[in-house]
Amino acid sequence: MSNTVAAYAALSAGEPLVPHTIELREVGPHDVRIDIKFAGICHSDIHTVRDEWGPANYPVVPGHEIAGIVTAVGSAVTKFAVGDRVGVGCLVDSCGECVNCRRGEEQYCVNGNVQTYNAVGRDGKITQGGYAQSVVVTERFVCRIPDGLALDVAAPLLCAGITTYAPLRRWGAGPGKRVAVVGLGGLGHMAVKLAHAMGADVTVLSQSLKKREDGLALGATAYYATEDPDTFTALAGSFDLILNTVSAPLDLDAYLGLLAVDGVLSTVGAPAEPMSVHAGSLLFQRRVLAGSIIGGLRETQEMLDFCAEHNLGAQIEVIGVERINEAYERVLASDVRYRFVIDTSGLSQGRSNG
Ligand code: NAP
Ligand code: ZN
Repeated sequence: MSNTVAAYAALSAGEPLVPHTIELREVGPHDVRIDIKFAGICHSDIHTVRDEWGPANYPVVPGHEIAGIVTAVGSAVTKFAVGDRVGVGCLVDSCGECVNCRRGEEQYCVNGNVQTYNAVGRDGKITQGGYAQSVVVTERFVCRIPDGLALDVAAPLLCAGITTYAPLRRWGAGPGKRVAVVGLGGLGHMAVKLAHAMGADVTVLSQSLKKREDGLALGATAYYATEDPDTFTALAGSFDLILNTVSAPLDLDAYLGLLAVDGVLSTVGAPAEPMSVHAGSLLFQRRVLAGSIIGGLRETQEMLDFCAEHNLGAQIEVIGVERINEAYERVLASDVRYRFVIDTSGLSQGRSNG
């Protein structure tokens, strides 16, 4: 197996992604090497390669919604064997010793976790993500994809799935809870499916009514357009939890007004620009403004098992590698139903037994 593998990379903020090659590390004692079959396109990939979140380490090979098959395991690996169906999300390493790592919340590692791409790995090299033929990851950061989930619909669960599952669990989405999901994109559509499967009553708040039928089919009982100012009067004080999945800044005061007493607005959307809040939006109904980032490995496996049990994959549009740049434009235009997933087999030109 060659360590030189084909990938797609952004070479700078202003250029389209182009074919590229990367060098994988040797499979160490605790490592798993994965033949990547599918990689989802997350809006975070676009924020990163366009340098919206601070200086990127070009060339950037994005992709943190990885699904594939194990092709090699290190001598000390116990959890995985060659041929296993596995996934990798946004994290590939953490200290493993701090208070947060010990309780399975590696995303909040006190000593700094290592993200799947555009980060400095513990070997000092820049990490490279899933728009590639293969990846080598330490086994602690690899999840098992249950047999009931196809690899293509499972890939987006590794980010869009866990990022929405974690705050829904954290804030008690379930029977008797009124949950609103803002933004029906990659994260939003998974939030609707998951909250519905948890037993909550789900409302979608989308810019327009264009995707209303889809939203209801995904499990929502109501669907409102936020471009209509009447929405904000009609729904005032009506939710226990609002999950904001929007990639652009929102008028948080307007959305906080939709919460009942003790209601929580949790944001997972990560626009580059700051958002402001009036104190009154919080204190009059003792409301909570919260946020969270992805989820730990234990919870990610729990989410995958939950999805298999409830037959929840992502709703996807599979594309070849040559359509990545076009897909980015469509994500930016909110024209995605509901996750682009790259079939990486098109990288096989020049494939070196990867
Ligand atoms: P996406 O597929 O592009 O979905 C975002 C949705 O937001 C769009 O489909 C659209 O929904 C809505 N939207 C877009 N622009 C808007 C605007 N100007 N005003 C109001 N609504 C707008 O993106 P995604 O992959 O789901 O990611 C969403 C955000 O979450 C990104 O910022 C991403 O970086 C972030 N993220 C955070 C985490 C985390 O751990 N916290 C993890 C992954 C991603 P409608 O058409 O329905 O209005
Ligand atoms: Zn993501």
